[in-house]
Amino acid sequence: MFQGIAFEPAELPDDAPALREEVRDFLNEALDPTFRPNSDFNAGESAEFSSQLGQRGWIGMTWPAEYGGGERSFLERYVVTEELLAGGAPVGAHWIADRQSGPLLLRFGTEEQRQFFLPRITKGECFFSIGMSEPDTGSDLASIKSTAKPVDGGWLLNGSKIWSSGAHMNHYMVALVRTEAPSENRHAGMSQVIIDLHDPNVTIKGIANLAGDRDFNQVFFDDVVIPHDRLVGEPGNGWQQVISELSYERSGPERFLSAFRVLVEFVREVGADPNDAQAALIGKLISHLVTLRRMSISVAGMLEQGQNPNVEAALVKELGNNFEKQVPELVRLAGPFLSERFSQTLNDCILHAPSFTLRGGTREILRGVIARELGLR
Ligand SMILES: Cc1cc2nc3c(=O)[nH]c(=O)nc-3n(C[C@H](O)[C@H](O)[C@H](O)COP(=O)(O)OP(=O)(O)OC[C@H]3O[C@@H](n4cnc5c(N)ncnc54)[C@H](O)[C@@H]3O)c2cc1C
Repeated sequence: MFQGIAFEPAELPDDAPALREEVRDFLNEALDPTFRPNSDFNAGESAEFSSQLGQRGWIGMTWPAEYGGGERSFLERYVVTEELLAGGAPVGAHWIADRQSGPLLLRFGTEEQRQFFLPRITKGECFFSIGMSEPDTGSDLASIKSTAKPVDGGWLLNGSKIWSSGAHMNHYMVALVRTEAPSENRHAGMSQVIIDLHDPNVTIKGIANLAGDRDFNQVFFDDVVIPHDRLVGEPGNGWQQVISELSYERSGPERFLSAFRVLVEFVREVGADPNDAQAALIGKLISHLVTLRRMSISVAGMLEQGQNPNVEAALVKELGNNFEKQVPELVRLAGPFLSERFSQTLNDCILHAPSFTLRGGTREILRGVIARELGLR
């Protein structure tokens, strides 16, 4: 039965232009002139840069002040994240903790967990990884095999997670694990635990990506003891909690801005005198971008109202990933281009673009989510 997908129009707040300027001024000051901007949120990380953002109050912007948050709106947060990505800033270190792990703890964590982790996250001192995928378990997340068994003092964790972005640099991982044996209800019996990535029984092995960078890892757990107070929410409620993270994970501007610097360099390259094909391409790409922004801002507005727009978020990600994957392909054909700066930006993007439609859920999976909502499956 068709439930409806609704992108309610949302307007950015009156202070948005001033906030944008503030972020731009900050980036001009904070980033060295030799820094090569990259709009892919996963491309660059700097603990020093994250700490500076924390001092500005731009991490945990929407969280309560008692946990170090800024008590600002999701729409103000949208403005800051969009500007940071458009400027190609190295946001990777704190990104997951700010976008996902912190909101998870705010919603499901204990008071003790909130008081311990959230102020550290907002200061840009405490970074998190996502521990969902496992070898042989990506899209079919319910088939995870890592187990945490109850023991004196907590849970005994064994198993492995894969493609764990930033685990070699981060402090903690929120992992989905089995705390009960599988049953007929595939989604029952899973829990989320916070794993200290510096635990001696945790081994982290880097995996090189297509470009030769080491962004992600396989993480092994061999008899890791997780204290009781590091289980998030109710034991067995992990699946519901993971699902509730998805609107945060899938709807932000990072889902359509990964190739934005290619577009910037393309416009710079053709200058004031593009040929007809180049002008048409710029028009096409910008019109898509403007529409995606409206959709993403709408989701930020719904989050602000306390709604859980999972399907709208899936739609933003699906269309946004399609767009960001197309940008380097279409721009590549609109040359020839001569500047080294342009070539570097384009080549780097082409090597990373295959990941855009995989991370955070593949296109086929997102289309399945959307089709279900439309009553088509
Ligand atoms: C750059 C990058 C960073 C990542 N970071 C993290 C991270 O930090 N933490 C984490 O947990 N994971 C991370 N991932 C993993 C990512 O979430 C998975 O790669 C993704 O969910 C797909 O899982 P898989 O790779 O096992 O592919 P599979 O699930 O094996 O899928 C293979 C192909 O089959 C298709 N397919 C699978 N099932 C279906 C179906 N039911 N219907 C139709 N088609 C289907 C898929 O769409 C895909 O095309 C990252 C991935 C990348 C590329």
